Formats: sequence, C-alpha cells, structure tokens
Amino acid sequence: MGQISWPDGVRCPVVLSFDLDAELLWNVWLTREPSPIDISQGVYGPRVGLPRVLAMLGRQEVRGTFFVPGAIAERYPEAAKSIASAGHEIAHHGYLHEDCSKLTKDEERKMLIQGGDALFRVTGVRPKGARLSLGKTTISNLDDLGFVYESTLMDDDQPYRLHSEGGKSRMIELPVTFAFNDTSYFAYTFGLPKPFLTPREVEVVYRDEFDAMYREQKYCMFMLHPQVIGRASRLDMLERTVEYMKSKPGVWFATALEVAEHCQHALG
Ligand SMILES: [Zn+2]
Repeated sequence: MGQISWPDGVRCPVVLSFDLDAELLWNVWLTREPSPIDISQGVYGPRVGLPRVLAMLGRQEVRGTFFVPGAIAERYPEAAKSIASAGHEIAHHGYLHEDCSKLTKDEERKMLIQGGDALFRVTGVRPKGARLSLGKTTISNLDDLGFVYESTLMDDDQPYRLHSEGGKSRMIELPVTFAFNDTSYFAYTFGLPKPFLTPREVEVVYRDEFDAMYREQKYCMFMLHPQVIGRASRLDMLERTVEYMKSKPGVWFATALEVAEHCQHALG
C-alpha cells in the first residue's frame, strides 16, 4: 500500500492507547485459574496505575485512547469516569474480554451491544472504536453497528481499510505490534516463562521503533496496560519517550478515533 497522506504538517501520528483489562487480563493469559496474586496485579491497574497514567497524560497535554471491557467499567465506575472526564477516548474492549472466535455471530452482536451499553451507562460515551480478539464475523458485526475502526491486527505498520463479509467495509484497521506493547517486556507472574526487562532497555526499543516509523512516515500505535506500564519507574520511562517524540517536528499525538477518521477520508 502507498503512503497515507497525513494532515498538513504531520509526518507521523502517535497514538497512546491503554487497555484497562484489570483482572480480566489474567483470564486471557493463563491456562490455569488466576490466583488471588494474579488478580491483585489486575486490580493494580484501575487502583494505582490508571491515576498515574492520567496524571502523566495531563502533564504532557496529550490525549490517549482507553479500551475498557464493559464489565470493568461497571466494576470500577470511578476509574472509567475519570478517563472520560479528562477528555480521553473510551473504546470497546468486549464485555468480559471475550474471545470472539468462540461466539456465534448473534452471540457476538449481543456481546458488542452489552459492552457498548455498559460503557455508555458509566461514562456517557458510545464507543466508536474497538479492540477485540477477532473472530470471523467480528468485522461484519462492528460494521453493522456503526464502528469506525478496529485495532488488533498486526499485518501492517500503517492503517488500512478493512473488508467484511461480502465486500468493502467503511471501517479502518489501526494495526498494533508487540514492539509497542508493554506486556511483551514487563508482564510476569508465577510460572509464566517470560523475560522481565528494565525500563531503560524498553526505552531503547520504543525510541528505535518511533525513529523508524517517523523516518518512513508511517504511524505509532502504543498498546499499553495501566497495571503494567503504571508502575512508577516504567511510567517515568514512558514520559521520557513522550518528551522525546514531542521534540520532533510533525508528530501528531492523536486519539485512535482521530487517526481513523482522518484515514476514512485519506483512504478514499
Ligand atoms: Zn485486553
């Protein structure tokens, strides 16, 4: 695909997106039943990590996008409201972080409505974007429900138009990468054979990724988790990374929805 033409003066959009999975992260990750210790790492997200993330975004005057499962918005209404009231985007992340490939088309549609209704009841915002464990019918269902974008796939490093059953969709895919994730480097629990990197090491990865995307005029979609990036030393690192990116001309800190809406026009 050719180069997307970004708004005037923009060389590289940057989206800081956060998945507020809370306890549900561990149901997704573990093949065993999550223990009270696993669950407590999840609780750290809305309780400690999120306020720190919101404070940093406020200091840097940058708006982010938060993908929130409906059940988590209901369980932590003050956390969900604090995101919306600070002007950040609220987006769909399932009701219970479902694996859509295990749902029928009808079950999936009901889940999408249930999750969207929960977010609306708690925050007053109807999500226009989604990040889901996609099944075969998900894009078609999201399209029917009027969503603007989806952000889960890893097959490009710039946005592109999605296709649904039977033809072209109006929806935009905002692809992600484990390179701009935090769980790839930091998430850990008993029995999970994963590396645990220092914030300084990850800072180098993030900078190198940004520099290369900036050079190619593609885009950067950070996919972070308040329970992981919200530890103080890691958030200091993220803030240094934000300051570094801000120092370059033509970087557009945007919400996922703003990038997707631009691409709906730019991609024809
Ligand atoms: Zn998630």
